[in-house]
Amino acid sequence: MELYIHIPFCKQKCLYCDFPSWDSCADSIPDYIDALKKDLVNSLEPSFVRTLRSENNVRNSLSGASAANNRSGCGKNGGAEPNLVPIETVYIGGGTPSFIDASYIEEIMELVKSRAKISENAEITLEANPCTVTKEKAQRYLACGINRISMGVQSFNDGELRLLGRAHDAAAAHKAFYVLREAGFNNISIDLIHGLPGQTAPDFLASLDKAIDLAPEHISAYGLIIEAGTPFNDIYADWEPDEDEQVRIYTHTVERLESSEYFQYEISNFAKRGFESRHNLGYWIGEEYLGCGLGATGYAGSKRVTKEKKLEEYISNPLKSYTEHITAEDKKKEFIFLGMRRKSGINAVEYEKIFKEEFPENYKKIFKKYSPEYVTVENNSYRFTVQGFLVSNTILSEFM
Ligand code: SF4
Repeated sequence: MELYIHIPFCKQKCLYCDFPSWDSCADSIPDYIDALKKDLVNSLEPSFVRTLRSENNVRNSLSGASAANNRSGCGKNGGAEPNLVPIETVYIGGGTPSFIDASYIEEIMELVKSRAKISENAEITLEANPCTVTKEKAQRYLACGINRISMGVQSFNDGELRLLGRAHDAAAAHKAFYVLREAGFNNISIDLIHGLPGQTAPDFLASLDKAIDLAPEHISAYGLIIEAGTPFNDIYADWEPDEDEQVRIYTHTVERLESSEYFQYEISNFAKRGFESRHNLGYWIGEEYLGCGLGATGYAGSKRVTKEKKLEEYISNPLKSYTEHITAEDKKKEFIFLGMRRKSGINAVEYEKIFKEEFPENYKKIFKKYSPEYVTVENNSYRFTVQGFLVSNTILSEFM
């Protein structure tokens, strides 16, 4: 099982951001951490996980663990084996987890380690913003078990960083990267954003080259989405993206990264061999996950649970959540939608194994219609080509 932990505080609110995060509520950090700990304690109880799974469960990677918990009566450490929820990956995201004092991250990690069975080779990621990384923080993160940093750089062009409203400049990104490396992090991801107003393919590729020169293990290159309700939406209300330029940026990005030994494994994600984000891959293959913190979502059995999204309300009642029941039909759609984000796509035999029914003929027809230009069909597998990723939303809408 995976664990996501949300820290909703940032040094400065970026102009395009619609994530649940605040730059003006630092006074609430101690109360938020107290609330988050209550949430973690509750969510990591085996009985909580069992409740999530209490209904018809098509995919349940933890069924063995649940059965064991049931047999032992579910008291904490009630049997020979500690009765804890096994966790394979932890992702501390936000917001900017590196903004808050490192002692809070240590407290969170201590609590998680005492309340869950963290696997020996667990991937434990913390999101960082370059202007909040220090040598001391990096060393404390490593010491408390964090072994992967995902750093939101977005661009190595200072003009673009100002346009995005980021709190750092390119020099700060370089410095933070070296600080993390020297502290001992050997698994670092850099996030970049493309498709900014006025940005050309050479502009983005210049930033990409600077990221490649740093040799991180992982690079994410996301297309900018202008969300309603953000300052960006007002500033660029009349802006129309140049679609040909977007296509050039995406195709050159894939080529440049693959020729530099960053292999594409998802529509926007590239990694050196063996450094794919296990946590994010888990989402795309339908693994179960717990979500703790404001607005965090968890999924297990046939339920998706989302925590309260308002800061004051979350702090006063961190156990409040909203439950959505997921039907077998929803799960089949998610198998397609999430699976097709991966470069390896989906496999019909795997579908049949999971859902105990034949891979639907109408699904096959949709994929075949777009083959070979947009979809590669091979040995019961279906996957998007690079051109297919560019129109994936249109193709996937046919499965609705
Ligand atoms: S640092 Fe990330 S979460 Fe915080 S405001 Fe910027 S984009 Fe949003």
